[in-house]
Amino acid sequence: MKKIVVFLGAPGAGKGTAAAAVAAKTGAIHVSTGAMLRDALARGTPAGLEAKSYMESGALVPDETLCKMISELLAGTADGATVFLDGFPRNVAQAEALYALAPAADAQIASALMLDVSKEALLERLGGRRTCPKCGAGYHVKSLPPKKEGICDACGTALVTRADDRPETIAHRLEVYESATAPVVGFYEKAGKLRRIDASGSAAEVAALVEAAL
Ligand SMILES: [Zn+2]
Repeated sequence: MKKIVVFLGAPGAGKGTAAAAVAAKTGAIHVSTGAMLRDALARGTPAGLEAKSYMESGALVPDETLCKMISELLAGTADGATVFLDGFPRNVAQAEALYALAPAADAQIASALMLDVSKEALLERLGGRRTCPKCGAGYHVKSLPPKKEGICDACGTALVTRADDRPETIAHRLEVYESATAPVVGFYEKAGKLRRIDASGSAAEVAALVEAAL
């Protein structure tokens, strides 16, 4: 039997960071939706080819194709493995689909971890991100500032705020999260699988809480 642990939380809650850190420590497999998609495309799996046809026509990859991709991934995972899903499910329909596909892949949903952060903290985290347009290095005005304000440590280029990290985009991302993904929390709560994690601390503190909740 394979175990699935779902990571939930708003953009900026630190799902990816926590999942990656705990996976590296425990040997779990960290799967972000973006990486899974890129991998399926690169390997040309049936679901990858299906996704490619949607993406080439400029359409979003439908839930059904993402579910096939997760089935492929679980089928290729060793028995007894733990899989951290980061970025899926994003809505209740996907959460239901995940329950439906798991048994065929000899997998079960062990728990859903909700990384709780206040809205004020999310806005501060997301709004403080700065990126180097030349080398891609990431900074944060408070938690990871460059040595010289506004300048990349690695290459000396002036840092920029990516479109994704501008206030109006952040507000929109949080709205999308509230309307589509927040109901997924209620879904897992009803299923008795939800564990709430206080994700207001440092990355190391959050990772320790996540590990303890597994
Ligand atoms: Zn740079």
